[in-house]
Amino acid sequence: MTPFPTSTVLGYPRIGPRRELKRALESYWDGRSTRAELERTGAELRARTWHRLAGLGLEGLPSNTFSLYDHVLDTAVLLGAVPERYREAADPYFAMARGTDGLAPLRMTKWFDTNYHSLVPELGPETTLKLDAAKPLGEIREARALGYETRPVFVGPVTFVLLAGALDRLDDVLPLYEELLGELAAEGVAWAQLDEPALAADRTPEELAAVRAAYDRLGAVRARPRLFVASYFGELGAALPALAATPVEAIGLDLVRGGVPAADLTGKTVVAGVVSGRDVWRTPTERALAALAALSATGAERVAVSTSCSLLHVPHDVADEPELDPELRARLAFADQKVAEVVALAGALDDLPAAGFQESGPSVALADPPPAGGRAPYPVRAAAQAARLGLPPLPVTTIGSFPQTGELRAARAAVTADTLAEDAYERRVEAEIERAIRLQERLGLDVLVHGEPERNDMVQYFAERLDGFAVTRNGWVQSYGSRCTRPPILHGDVRRPAPITVRWAEYARSLTDRPVKGMLTGPVTIVAWSFRRDDLPLRDVVFQVAEAVREEVADLEAAGVPIIQVDEPALRELLPLRRAAQEEYLEWAVAAYRRATSGAGDSTQIHTHLCYSDADQILAAIDGLDADVTTIESARSGARILGAVEGFGRGLGPGVYDIHSPRVPSAEEVEDLLRRTLRALPAGRVWVNPDCGLKTRTYEQVEAALANVVEAARRLRAEV
Ligand code: GLN
Ligand code: ZN
Repeated sequence: MTPFPTSTVLGYPRIGPRRELKRALESYWDGRSTRAELERTGAELRARTWHRLAGLGLEGLPSNTFSLYDHVLDTAVLLGAVPERYREAADPYFAMARGTDGLAPLRMTKWFDTNYHSLVPELGPETTLKLDAAKPLGEIREARALGYETRPVFVGPVTFVLLAGALDRLDDVLPLYEELLGELAAEGVAWAQLDEPALAADRTPEELAAVRAAYDRLGAVRARPRLFVASYFGELGAALPALAATPVEAIGLDLVRGGVPAADLTGKTVVAGVVSGRDVWRTPTERALAALAALSATGAERVAVSTSCSLLHVPHDVADEPELDPELRARLAFADQKVAEVVALAGALDDLPAAGFQESGPSVALADPPPAGGRAPYPVRAAAQAARLGLPPLPVTTIGSFPQTGELRAARAAVTADTLAEDAYERRVEAEIERAIRLQERLGLDVLVHGEPERNDMVQYFAERLDGFAVTRNGWVQSYGSRCTRPPILHGDVRRPAPITVRWAEYARSLTDRPVKGMLTGPVTIVAWSFRRDDLPLRDVVFQVAEAVREEVADLEAAGVPIIQVDEPALRELLPLRRAAQEEYLEWAVAAYRRATSGAGDSTQIHTHLCYSDADQILAAIDGLDADVTTIESARSGARILGAVEGFGRGLGPGVYDIHSPRVPSAEEVEDLLRRTLRALPAGRVWVNPDCGLKTRTYEQVEAALANVVEAARRLRAEV
């Protein structure tokens, strides 16, 4: 029996160090290259990855962690969970991923508490499942041809059915996993990895029983590889004894998010995730060694060193960032550096002290957060704002961004490359602002925006202008499919050296008599979409950013800007997976938002924007933000949201159309949605706006859609 290798990683970035996969995908989708060419790029990236991992000295190489789009989609295809409607498509895989003409894609959801988005598998009663192991077997053989034995990685059965919202289908799915294990054994595979991140969230007794039953059953397969069940994104809690009681040979623990469990793991291999796959910092060696040593108390037969989760969530290589400050660079570890750390820690395994010594984490005393400061109660503010702004009922506004044109992006790239002078670029931005303002005036919107043409991204733009952040050149991380983000690195104390948005807001105001909103990103979102320091509690980091936003709010107000929007689309993203921790998080997250906005006077109207479909789940927190106007997503989650917001105590703008689609809504459908809103809320508090920013749309689509939105608002105004 092959023992588990002493060093491994749970997964590795697949987009490529220069986003090779992104380019290959987009070229295939545009019809500029063939599927065979796309596959070739995939094979090259896989070969590169295996050579790289082996070159860094890693013993256990994973396979099937590569994906052309998404690993959950790959698992659905593996199990034959391809809904009937996609089967006739020219390319069913990408039809499920992206949709085709007339066919919507599968739903997308956030992969647990990360910024990666996976597709939601559909297990309808009519879907007949059938194993298709061509992809994993192909990768195993491909690696073999290069001289590498690999451990194929799959989404485990329990997580898969939970993602599909169909625990009752577990018994239909398990025979396919049994069959898969048989095929892997026939292929001579020694170990298979089944990922069960769903076990890091609260699970019901029924679900825990399902875990036990599933792995008892897979463990009983006669000819099979040894089973490694990987958990990540937190502690296993009650799922650990359930799993430990089954015949699986190895269990992966996230020892960055969780401590060493007091569990009996006699006879098991523990794959110790001591190198974080979620941050960009070097691993504190002492802490990792202490955790490895403490594992001896579990009775584990063998300990292997690994990452806390897949390295999918970090960029490839710090060596690709020569422009970063050397002092900061020395503190950083991206995927390749983390692999080297795993290898080094595995090398120290034999010399660990016999008994575990207590880990002494940094003891940080939480300072009391600064007070929110006082604004008058909402009714007082609402009256002051009504007098100042003189808006009609059902005021029409937008969420902030207007289309980002190709010329604008080219101009931005040119300034970065020094081929366009800074002031020529600023002139360009001003021209875009003027275009957006004139369009909104012509269409008859009530509260205008400048359109955000100066922003590359709603977080990076602010990160580049605040002390304490660094931005990278090649630090891309996959968000979904070919989409990547380049999260800024929040590494030090955050300060705002100078006003950031004031000049654009002032310019926009100089062009029109109508009210213009100032536009800022909120403290939670700035931190959520950055890699952040871990030597301070998250809460304190968010409060530092809140202080900087508060200063910007004050400067906008002093410049006479009557409405200031502070976006918090990521408020829900940092919500802990375990319910026990959620309340505390929401409490300080809301306090940070209030700290950022509560310096505003009563006649300054504060807006906020949140754009996920389940705002109803944290409605109390949204209420706690105390913004005068809240705009939310609702075109897709419709009736449910409207039911939940009934009686919401402040201004509310349920998005009247879905900006994620190029479709132009008719005035009638907008009117219909507004009528339903008016049944839930008094007319004096309803705002009319799209679901989210318009930056991904074209001017043509935006103009047609907003014209209908204004028309619908006008028709209803006559009635209220
Ligand atoms: N103001 C931003 C925009 O309009 C908000 C984006 C978001 O919610 N993600 O683009
Ligand atoms: Zn949004």
